[in-house]
Amino acid sequence: MILQKKDAFNRFAAKRGLRSTRQRDLILDVFLSSHDHLSVEELYLKVKATNPGVGQATVYRTLKLFVEAGLAREMTMSDGQTRYEHLSAGEHHDHLICTRCGAIVEFEDATIERLQGEIALRHGFSITSHRLDLYGICPACKATPV
Ligand SMILES: [Zn+2]
Ligand SMILES: [Zn+2]
Ligand SMILES: [Zn+2]
Repeated sequence: MILQKKDAFNRFAAKRGLRSTRQRDLILDVFLSSHDHLSVEELYLKVKATNPGVGQATVYRTLKLFVEAGLAREMTMSDGQTRYEHLSAGEHHDHLICTRCGAIVEFEDATIERLQGEIALRHGFSITSHRLDLYGICPACKATPV
């Protein structure tokens, strides 16, 4: 799966006329081997652990490129922070996001997915993609008094 995603990105980069760079390859490797929803800062720290020469601005620009390539999905947290996760065509999930601690739970529910299709149809839409982020308080935070 990681190899497929790398191939897809390399095709995108070639079409854009972007030469491959060792730094971008490293960022891609680190990004794809993580299964978290990462902020630019978090990815930067992981990348820096392998190659201290990579700057945070490079990590940011490269992530934007991954989003354009359809390899990464950008999500905005309730505190305005942006997190990134990798997704390839056909993979899909929605999120429950804790507004207190930032915990993210992924889920996929066949009924919700089907309902969205029906609603779109009713309005004459064909859905090409969607995102569903539900914000609230996670069980751990509920158990802890503020
Ligand atoms: Zn969904
Ligand atoms: Zn929480
Ligand atoms: Zn996710």
